Amino acid sequence: MGLLSQGTPLSWAESRQYNDYVREHGINQLVNCFNAAKGRHNDHFFWGDEIEYHMIRIDDKAKTAQLSLKETEVLKNLGEHGKDKQRAIDQGILFHPEYGRFMLEATPYQPYDGETIEGYAEVEQNMSVRRTVAHNEMGDKNVHAATLTAFPTMGCDDFTYPKTVPKGPSSQSLFLPDEVINQHVRFPTLTANIRRRRGQKVAINIPLFEDTNTDMTHLDSSIPKRELFSGDDEAFLGAAKPGHIYMDSMGFGMGCCCLQVTLQAPDINEARYVYDSFVNIAPALLALTAATPILKGRLADQDVRWNVISGAVDDRCPEERGEATLQGHKARGGIADNANVIYIPKSRYDSVDQYLGDIHSQPGIDGLSHITSVGTVSKESESSADYTYFEPSLNDVESPINPAVYAKLRSAGFDHRLARHFAHLYIRDPLVIFKEKIKQDDATETDHFENIQSTNWQTLRFKPPTQKATPGNDSVPGWRVEIRPMEISVTDFENAAFGVFSILLARAVIKYRPNFYVPISVAEQNMKVAHTRRCTTDGKFGFRVNSWHGQNEESVIAQLSLDQLFNGYEDFEGLVPVTRRYVHETFEIKTEQQRNAQELLEIYFKFISKRASGEIPSTAKFIRSFVMHHPEYKHDSKINSSINYDLIKYLQRLERYDPELTSEFFGKEISTWMSDHGY
Ligand code: ADP
Ligand code: MG
Ligand code: MG
Ligand code: MG
Ligand code: MG
Ligand code: MG
Repeated sequence: MGLLSQGTPLSWAESRQYNDYVREHGINQLVNCFNAAKGRHNDHFFWGDEIEYHMIRIDDKAKTAQLSLKETEVLKNLGEHGKDKQRAIDQGILFHPEYGRFMLEATPYQPYDGETIEGYAEVEQNMSVRRTVAHNEMGDKNVHAATLTAFPTMGCDDFTYPKTVPKGPSSQSLFLPDEVINQHVRFPTLTANIRRRRGQKVAINIPLFEDTNTDMTHLDSSIPKRELFSGDDEAFLGAAKPGHIYMDSMGFGMGCCCLQVTLQAPDINEARYVYDSFVNIAPALLALTAATPILKGRLADQDVRWNVISGAVDDRCPEERGEATLQGHKARGGIADNANVIYIPKSRYDSVDQYLGDIHSQPGIDGLSHITSVGTVSKESESSADYTYFEPSLNDVESPINPAVYAKLRSAGFDHRLARHFAHLYIRDPLVIFKEKIKQDDATETDHFENIQSTNWQTLRFKPPTQKATPGNDSVPGWRVEIRPMEISVTDFENAAFGVFSILLARAVIKYRPNFYVPISVAEQNMKVAHTRRCTTDGKFGFRVNSWHGQNEESVIAQLSLDQLFNGYEDFEGLVPVTRRYVHETFEIKTEQQRNAQELLEIYFKFISKRASGEIPSTAKFIRSFVMHHPEYKHDSKINSSINYDLIKYLQRLERYDPELTSEFFGKEISTWMSDHGY
């Protein structure tokens, strides 16, 4: 996650004085990148995925499954700075650190070629190599790299191996010891500074699932009374809510694993169009991949992780949140008294707030080459005529900007929407500043830009290239879009299916030019729907249905189930059929290899289609039902360590392909296909 600078982080008090400096130089860096790369066109369609793992130590004698804090060999050897990095590269993979010390991230070493059908057949294979290598590299053979979104008993007694006690100064959490945090100095500092800036610990309250014996009226019984840090009483002063699962630390969110995919668009305007097109697909992808029914040893009344992370990094002080302070806490938190505090509606980690606008352009792939002008739309003259489908009124949620940043970007040639996008990200303060990294060359470095950019965690990320990305210099990436809402699934099969599907859908969007714009408040409402229990089958998502045809007519927004959205119905060609059609209309199938790739894509489409229809249960539903049928479950919404162990073992069987279990989960057809293909 984010940028990993080496060096000494400034103390909180010292770093404050550099906030404007970092923003100013971050924007200079962005302007230089933009000027270098704005004239790039027809970039190749590359893409890649990121898989995150929990390292879980399974003790079959003691019947425990715990997060392992000891396994750093994988990163030490095969990470970006690993001594054996070449060995990973030779296998086409690379490992990266993540927030949790018990986490791993892995990516393909090279992005996939998205322009040939064979490129899509590499994904699952590559994921499988990553999982195998991670496993083989573990010093302790009882440690297993698992793709679970949230570790079920995180923050409960004895959830780590070795045993730890929560009393760390960075998080000051009642539940999570600082030992769970990645030991690179950036991470404990980030944790502490979010707490400092906010003026109190983060407070995440997720509604508890109400079973017959669940206590809904008292505070979470796992909250201990402690007198170690001044914030230890916060839970009892209003931070914790009855009937909710209370969590007080960054690790509960950033300790979750997810699936991300990044694509390189042909040029900046196509990147803007893809970004905008996915604003309202993102909530649906979150719901479709729902995998988080358990948090801190409790069944939740929701199925996804998103608002947990959102709360876990919410550094806004009470005034910025527009909320009352806790008894005895200073209103402004750790912000200087002379600072200009504004109301900020959302956390740094949240859904997209603004469309970028689809500046007129022609299809860049599978179509005509084109020339478009970047930076001609001014605020004064902006009208719907400047855009293909976008209308300024669609950005209808409050989204404050940094006016100085906006003005600077406008004078540097950014159009109104693009300037607003970055000026919105730049309302945030830097969270960690490294002493050795203050002075930078804005013509070649991007650390200050990334400092703010990569601590704005939205459902999508618009990734600009670096200053080296001049037209023709294909050795460095161009304009990219990252799709970030998806939860991680238990098997490589599912993760590959979701990754491949979302990328092929993006390709279909670029080719067929749908109009998916809805008022952004509708996408926001869809995020709320994605946070309801059983959202995968019961949620209704507002979606523009005259999107493939009649794009320029008045928008018709219908409330669709995921089944209707993905599989289609009489008024709407679903996202799966259209992506399948895209594959048929685009790729040449001549060789055996191409035929195999096509067959693989077809099985992915079937899986996604059945997940959307409910025929294949969501991971969340599957896990919830496992718990509710466990003999030790007392219908009090609590998961003890032995249920946790059985669940982890069960999921491990699924991940390693157990014919009976796989058949039960995915259905016979997919299971048979999997076994025929070497699972
Ligand atoms: P971050 O954590 O900032 O999102 P990572 O480096 O972990 O970044 O992941 C970036 C993803 O982008 C990887 O899957 C990688 O394969 C992919 N990628 C790398 N270069 C390109 C490119 N030129 N176009 C598209 N995707 C790329
Ligand atoms: Mg990551
Ligand atoms: Mg990454
Ligand atoms: Mg990263
Ligand atoms: Mg990423
Ligand atoms: Mg128009």
